[in-house]
Order: sequence, then C-alpha cells, then structure tokens
Amino acid sequence: MLQGRTALVTGSTSGIGRGIAHALARAGADVMVHGLGDADRIAADCAALAAETGRRIAWDPADLTREGGVERLVATTAERLGEVDILVNNAGIQHVSPVEDFPPERWDAIRTLILDASFHAVRLTVPGMKRRNWGRILNLVSVHGLVASPFKTAYVAAKHAQVGLTKSVALELAETGVTCNAICPGYVRTALVEGQIADQARAHGLPAERVIREVILAAQPSKRFVEIEEIAALAVFLCGEAARSITGASIPIDGGWTSR
Ligand code: NAD
Repeated sequence: MLQGRTALVTGSTSGIGRGIAHALARAGADVMVHGLGDADRIAADCAALAAETGRRIAWDPADLTREGGVERLVATTAERLGEVDILVNNAGIQHVSPVEDFPPERWDAIRTLILDASFHAVRLTVPGMKRRNWGRILNLVSVHGLVASPFKTAYVAAKHAQVGLTKSVALELAETGVTCNAICPGYVRTALVEGQIADQARAHGLPAERVIREVILAAQPSKRFVEIEEIAALAVFLCGEAARSITGASIPIDGGWTSR
C-alpha cells in the first residue's frame, strides 16, 4: 500500500515510534528510523526489519534538541532514502514536577523536542510533499494535547501547541494531497511510562501493580494500557487513500479518557 513512499519517524528507536516504523515498513514504505540508544541494538533491529520486509531501512541518531538537528536529519533522509513523503513527529520526553519547582532547562528541552522539532520537520518536508501533491504528516501527540493533568506543565503545553500546529498546517494544505493529523493516545506501557510508574511507586510507597491501577490508569476508563500495535495500525490507516479526507483531526486512542 505504501510502496515507493519514504517515511521518517522521529523517536523510533523505542516504544510507539518503533511500532509505527515497523508497521509502515510492513505496509511497504522505506523508513528512516531515528532516535537515541545503543547503536548495536538499533542496527540489529533495523537489519531484522529490512530482512523481514524487503524495504530500505536506515537509522540516524540526531539529537533534535541541538541546533540544526532536524535540518541534518531531513537532509540525511533525502540522501539515503529519498525525500520524505510520510513524516511522523513522535520523539518526546516527559518531566513531572510542581510548576513552581519545574526546572527551566527541562521546560526548554521538552518544548524544543516536542514542539520546535515538529515545526522544523514540517517546514522542511512540506515543499517536497506539495511538489509531489502527496504527503502524510502525523503528529504523535497525547490525550495531554486535549486535556491536562497536574505536574506536567511543559508536556501539556507543548502537546496542546502540537495540536494547534496540526490544525494550522492542515488548513494550509487542505486543497493539496497532503494531510496533517494528530494521534492522541492515553497511557501506553513504554520506557517513558515505566519511569513514571517507578517514580509514583516511590512517592506513594505502593507496589507497581497498585500504582498502575490506582494512579496511572485512574483517568483511563478502560483500565488497560493502549497497545503500541493499535496506534501503529491507526497510523497506517491515516497514511492510506481511504483517509485522504481526514485532515486537521486530533484522534484520541485513549480507552475513553477524553469522554469524561
Ligand atoms: P519512548 O521513551 O519509548 O521513546 C522516545 C523516543 O524519542 C526514543 O526513540 C528516543 O531515543 C527519542 N528521543 C528522546 N530524546 C531525544 C532527543 N533529544 N533527540 C532525538 N530523539 C530523542 O517514548 P514513547 O512512550 O514511545 O513516546 C513516543 C511519543 O508518544 C512521545 O511524543 C510521547 O509524548 C507520546 N505519547 C506517549 C504515551 C505513553 O503513554 N507512552 C502516551 C501518549 C503520547
């Protein structure tokens, strides 16, 4: 379905991004895997994906909080795999703290990675998508782009801004073959959430399983984590022709969280 398309998935060396990268390759796209982590593990993971799918898979470890990081990543993708047809802005980090204690450098890092990097990646890939009159931009946001939780000011603010970016870009491109949408998951059990489970277990003096049910999943009516594969399947659908009229949407995949 996506044969001949080049996908760039930021933050795809683990978690949700990795799941989306794998699903896009299985759907026929060549994929630039991006993100930090152990080089040997990532190289082996990419080689296995290339062998399984027969697609071209490359990896770039650009730090997107560094000046020029996004520019270099987009240029490298074009050199190695061709210009980007499918952009998934997925890289993200979290920091949990009362607003008065929130370290300004953590605020800057979260805003830079989630919001600024998304803007730069869109800015740099849209000209080629417009020229080819086909493109898909998926911003991996969160329910926290639609509703807030306490102690996550930087993350909630950056994610709400990502929804604004999504809507604005969608309107600009509405008469072209390029769509731009936000995917808004509830809790998914990835490295990002494992850290929060451990922190909350320490803070509340509770075992991890009680923290998961009584703290982490308290707002998620389904009382189960969203699976990475469910998000990846939605991403593949949004890249297909059946989704060509879906643009500017913020799609919750959250076990009912935002219905409260
Ligand atoms: P993860 O920690 O498993 O993956 C994060 C990815 O971002 C990794 O590939 C990492 O290398 C990369 N990354 C981190 N800092 C970077 C930097 N400075 N430069 C470049 N890359 C960097 O996290 P995840 O849970 O899979 O989260 C992926 C996205 O989904 C994030 O935007 C997150 O906010 C969002 N999200 C996660 C959940 C959840 O419950 N896990 C829920 C909703 C939304």
